[in-house]
Amino acid sequence: MSKAAFYVTTPIFYISGTPHIGHAYTSIAADILARSARAFGPARALTGTDEHGQKVAQAAEAAGMSPQAYTDMLAPKWKELAAAYDCRFDDFIRTTEPRHAEACLALFERMRANGDVYQGVYEGWYCTNDETFWPEAKLIDGRCPNPECHRPVQWLSEQNWFFKLSAYRDRLLAHFRAHPEFVRPQTRYNEMMAVLEAGLDDLSISRSSFDWGIPLPGGGVIYVWFDALINYISALGWPADRDGLFATFWPATHLIGKEIARFHTLIWPAMLWSAGLEIPERIFAHGWILADGEKMSKSLGNVIEPFSLAQRFGADSVRYFLFREAPFGSDFSISVEKLRQRHNSDLGNDLGNLLRRSLAMLQKYRNGLVPEPAESAIGERFADLGTLVHEHVTAMRFREALDEIWNLVTALNRAIDEQKPWDLHKHGRGDELDALLYTLCEGLRWLAILLYPFMPSKSDAMWAQLGQTGTPEVRWDDALQWGTLGAGTQTDPGAPLFPRIEPEPVEA
Ligand SMILES: [Zn+2]
Repeated sequence: MSKAAFYVTTPIFYISGTPHIGHAYTSIAADILARSARAFGPARALTGTDEHGQKVAQAAEAAGMSPQAYTDMLAPKWKELAAAYDCRFDDFIRTTEPRHAEACLALFERMRANGDVYQGVYEGWYCTNDETFWPEAKLIDGRCPNPECHRPVQWLSEQNWFFKLSAYRDRLLAHFRAHPEFVRPQTRYNEMMAVLEAGLDDLSISRSSFDWGIPLPGGGVIYVWFDALINYISALGWPADRDGLFATFWPATHLIGKEIARFHTLIWPAMLWSAGLEIPERIFAHGWILADGEKMSKSLGNVIEPFSLAQRFGADSVRYFLFREAPFGSDFSISVEKLRQRHNSDLGNDLGNLLRRSLAMLQKYRNGLVPEPAESAIGERFADLGTLVHEHVTAMRFREALDEIWNLVTALNRAIDEQKPWDLHKHGRGDELDALLYTLCEGLRWLAILLYPFMPSKSDAMWAQLGQTGTPEVRWDDALQWGTLGAGTQTDPGAPLFPRIEPEPVEA
């Protein structure tokens, strides 16, 4: 990280959509990044909802409600999704809030003052579902060319405001070339470079045929996409910045789904430059979660519902599974059965049993009291584990981070199997038994700290069973020193962390 404070965002979620596992995936990734960053310094995580546009206005009308009442009704389900997966956001922004409108108008005015906004007539084919204009040549059979949509489009002719996006093409190209890490993964970077090389058209940034949006002086409302992107700075209190959040936290790391890469990697930086602001630090577009190789959709009946999944397996098991199963960035397939297997094997057998049997032996042989710190081959071998895990997480190699952490889980389990504490006890080899028990407890303390960003509530439970106070949200520099666990700490074995989950009975 180039700055001391870390700021991560999810996209703001389209208010009348249905929360699915992909939304949870982005939110959990942001939460992992923010919790990891907090172990080193100040960090902030943002999510929220995208509430304007013609589609919302039409849905509200169909529901017989005002658009504001309609969005007020829907916003809580998005907060519930974050809560269901234990994602701790510092702020939740709704684009219908006054602070957001204030920032949008200020940005618009700055861009206009800089000569980047002009009036013109917009004519084109509009897809209300995607809130996107399409050129005639792109239409497929006269319909929306988005393969997910393919709905009829309507001809619009309006007097609108335009942003001179084309004027920023060369600067964007230069930035992309100088900063290959700006857009990740590589496939998205390549796609966006191809778009840049083909050239950029100016962008219509207002609409005048309906009024559900942020009103512009002189009529019309701000185009919903233009409005939505600004949430990342309006939530920091820009432009007034009364709390100093913008000065502290901007620029951000944006997490997005790959389908919205063009808006975030090309249009948004150009808007910021036009207003004389810094552009995002980096933009990471993750892949899609598929159900057994197929895109989830209502019509295929293969939608994995995020609320019931968290309820059945626990938020932490799902969090672990999503980031252990595949690299962040690629599309990947999930199934409830794969999740169940990882819950039982990785979490129940490897980690849960390690804690349970370590503390049971400590109880049996030492009344639950941690022995004196001792030299340990495991302590030496894993001395740099915190640094390694932090590097992986910072680079969004979440799976590699978990792989590294699991090497410690495996080493501790192997130490029990090889050194057989019950034999050490039987043969009166008390020093060796003490050293082993210390290694197990100290290793488990490390695991609680390292796993906390991934599995906050289970790590809390481990922490408490290890006799620690507070939570495992501690400074890694200080806490990940082997030998920190104090002799005489009273441990407190508790309920199994990951009770076994059986397959659901097949319906007859
Ligand atoms: Zn469409």
